[in-house]
Amino acid sequence: MQDRAFFGELLLAMTASDSAALRGARGHVVLIGGGHSHVGVLRELALRPLPHGRLTLICNGVDTPYSGMLPGYVAGHYRFEDVHLDLPKLAAWAKADFICDEVVGIDRVHRQVLCRHHPPVPYELCSINTGAAPQMGAVAGADAHAIAVKPIPQFHAHWLRVLARVRQDTAPLPPLRIAVVGGGAGGVELCLALQYRLLNERKEWQRQGQRTAQGSASVQFQLFSRDAHLLPTHNPKVRDIFTRTLRERGVQLHLNTEIVAVTHGQIQTATGECHAADEVMWVTQAGGAAWLRDTGLDLDAQGFVCVNDGLQSSDPAIFAAGDVASLRSRRLEKAGVFAVRMGPPLAENLRRQLTGLPLKPYRPQRHWLSLISTGDRYAVASRGAWGCEGAWVWRWKDHIDRRFMRRFSPP
Ligand SMILES: Cc1cc2nc3c(=O)[nH]c(=O)nc-3n(C[C@H](O)[C@H](O)[C@H](O)COP(=O)(O)OP(=O)(O)OC[C@H]3O[C@@H](n4cnc5c(N)ncnc54)[C@H](O)[C@@H]3O)c2cc1C
Repeated sequence: MQDRAFFGELLLAMTASDSAALRGARGHVVLIGGGHSHVGVLRELALRPLPHGRLTLICNGVDTPYSGMLPGYVAGHYRFEDVHLDLPKLAAWAKADFICDEVVGIDRVHRQVLCRHHPPVPYELCSINTGAAPQMGAVAGADAHAIAVKPIPQFHAHWLRVLARVRQDTAPLPPLRIAVVGGGAGGVELCLALQYRLLNERKEWQRQGQRTAQGSASVQFQLFSRDAHLLPTHNPKVRDIFTRTLRERGVQLHLNTEIVAVTHGQIQTATGECHAADEVMWVTQAGGAAWLRDTGLDLDAQGFVCVNDGLQSSDPAIFAAGDVASLRSRRLEKAGVFAVRMGPPLAENLRRQLTGLPLKPYRPQRHWLSLISTGDRYAVASRGAWGCEGAWVWRWKDHIDRRFMRRFSPP
């Protein structure tokens, strides 16, 4: 049995090295996905290029959104260009080729990244930073009738359609019922941002003289979470602030409530209750994309790529970082702060792997700061057991986020 495994590995290695040589893969590093970690890798390699070899970035979009600023963009505080990084520009800075396409697989035997529209891309090393994919398949009708916040480009396109529709509403103004599914930081933050923006849009509509007897029809929000508490990974003080804020703003909270079906205009809970909803926004815990299952890489129970402390997968030629990576030594929260922090060690380890040096371990921080906004230029800070709130927290967050965007914008 062991012999068979050994010869299988040997065959894989020989075939891989033959085809790699044939296709000129030597020294070719392919970055899959333009997430927060790869943006960091591009910056590192722009400042300190690889000693030899080629770099290619493949991403399914040309702009990568910075998730920390997404709620602020939805709330109307930022423009699109304030919260998106220009990937072709960033790739050019790092002297990398850029391919705009969706990756649909990795052929590990021939060491090729498989794209939906482009020919296979040979690699010596590749790295996956494609984020998490929504897991809506288990909920009947969710794929068709709900919109997941990830991938953000699809969410963004949908959001623009919602905004356009709200702006085109004619009197009598219909009530708008929005359901947000997911009570983590992302769901709560997005819910408050959507509410702030849509109420402002309706006020503007009225200000422009469309006022009628029915003109003040409301925007109603409901938030559903299967957990007993909001923000279950945050401390009780932060949870209390958000519970209070949502209640003060008239958002109906449904905790301990699992959604089992979504139909046109309605969602259904596990206990059989039905709630009317014109829009259903899905912000629940996500999993690994389906195509990862066919790579043969070790995946965790959620379908994320298992990596060692060097961010290397079960295949030494393949690395992973950000939400898509599952560190074997410690379970990490799926948060942009970790994805960002993985960028520099990932760049270093790609360099080391190419030159045959041992990998350096990535050491995640024990506690991290989360700055979660409440839609109205106000935010809550959360770190370990500590929490506080204020307009000044929003200004602090805004300062950090804008600095991040400047740091990753090519000169
Ligand atoms: C509303 C909201 C607010 C949030 N706010 C914060 C916050 O303030 N702070 C924080 O730390 N975290 C926050 N998060 C969590 C954060 O979004 C994620 O942890 C973070 O985006 C993970 O980064 P990533 O680099 O792993 O992946 P992503 O940011 O998801 O990037 C993945 C990239 O890969 C591309 N891609 C995906 N699949 C493919 C494919 N098959 N082929 C090619 N390209 C592909 C995508 O287009 C994208 O460019 C928030 C999440 C939400 C939903």
